[in-house]
Amino acid sequence: MDRTRKAIIVGAGAIGVTSAYTLARDGWQVRIIDSNPKPAMGASFGNGRQLSYSHTNALASSQILGQIPRLLARCDDAFRMGVFGSSGYYRWIAKFLANCTTPAYHKNTLQVLALAQESQRAMGDLLDRHPIDFEHHTTGKLVILRTEKEVRAARQIVAAKQETGLLQKILNRDEATNLEPALAGSSENIAGAIYAPNDATGDCHRFSVELLDILQCHYGVSYSGGISVKRIGNSRVVLSNEKTLTADLVVVANGHRARQLLAPIGHSVPIQPMKGYSFTAPVGYAAPTVSITDSKRRIVFTNLGDRMLVAGIAEMGNVDTSVDTNRLRSMISAARASLPEAAVYDEADAGWAGLRPLTPNSQPITRMLAPGLAVNTGHGMLGWTLAMGSAERLARVVRESSAND
Ligand SMILES: Cc1cc2nc3c(=O)[nH]c(=O)nc-3n(C[C@H](O)[C@H](O)[C@H](O)COP(=O)(O)OP(=O)(O)OC[C@H]3O[C@@H](n4cnc5c(N)ncnc54)[C@H](O)[C@@H]3O)c2cc1C
Repeated sequence: MDRTRKAIIVGAGAIGVTSAYTLARDGWQVRIIDSNPKPAMGASFGNGRQLSYSHTNALASSQILGQIPRLLARCDDAFRMGVFGSSGYYRWIAKFLANCTTPAYHKNTLQVLALAQESQRAMGDLLDRHPIDFEHHTTGKLVILRTEKEVRAARQIVAAKQETGLLQKILNRDEATNLEPALAGSSENIAGAIYAPNDATGDCHRFSVELLDILQCHYGVSYSGGISVKRIGNSRVVLSNEKTLTADLVVVANGHRARQLLAPIGHSVPIQPMKGYSFTAPVGYAAPTVSITDSKRRIVFTNLGDRMLVAGIAEMGNVDTSVDTNRLRSMISAARASLPEAAVYDEADAGWAGLRPLTPNSQPITRMLAPGLAVNTGHGMLGWTLAMGSAERLARVVRESSAND
């Protein structure tokens, strides 16, 4: 293929690498630049591994609105919001609050669902073309609901999703424990569960590394690791060594740091980092095989075979990626309280922390900002799930923009 048009992608997380795939497939000569010597070492490294193609519920909701005072007072170990921040942080919070209505919640959830479904199809197409081994399993997913109030709230959004043809349904307690016997060991009440049979799991870091390898071998993609992009312009990037690179297209796909690159050239993207944690521990004698979300405790369980992966915690206004042992300990306690025998919690590893790039409406931002400049970021809690669909959408907007030139 004669690759005459050059694209530079800033960021080699799941979003940058999948963006490189769709552009290279469409004939672009692609170069990816990442501050880290190796790809996918940011949020895409130790995430929950869940491909939540059906559970796409937006974070902003009327339920969250009532909890805001508790979140600001840091009374909730699973979800905290910083009180102090930049003017950008306060603007973000204002937009988030504006999305905490039932109509906005339904709209945001269904729009992300459409993208997630696109992602699932795109992942299938990619794997047909290039089989990649990343421990991909269609495990199905159960979202545990602890109270009748949660079940009632879930019914509405599940009904709206079913109208789109989605295979997702509400199970009562017995149906849920029959499907996943490990739930019988839960030390707290289970009122019901949302079940999505087609949701899957897979190692996001391994997928990104393997896909980049394929791109380098078969699509002529090049990877420049260990060098940061300091400034960008339309069709140009300035590196930390002051070298300037030009291209026909620059794609900003550097997760929660996109705002810092785009603001100086007049593009405002509403993205804030939301810190989360994960740990693994040997599987216990009642380890779920279906992937689990405990909505009350805001944690997910993913069975890796010999180990159980647990991920959770949402901390707004914290950009430090170090593991705070107190926070990790609180998540281990939450997991133990949720499913006591899912893992051997006393043998948990040292944990990992990462920063999700979150928008106020939980919808990613994938669009052209100017001729020769595109953005693909803001995937929040579902970046692994949405990566392939967003990459297809990026390729589409780039094609449309090229056609209009
Ligand atoms: C605890 C936790 C659990 C999660 N669980 C799930 C889950 O189960 N399912 C799911 O779908 N999603 C999950 N997510 C969300 C998902 O991991 C993220 O949305 C996704 O990884 C974001 O990918 P990204 O490529 O945008 O960002 P990143 O993976 O952070 O990649 C951004 C890259 O840009 C690079 N970079 C930054 N600035 C520059 C610069 N100036 N120059 C060059 N390079 C730069 C960074 O080094 C980094 O490699 C989870 C996230 C966390 C933190």
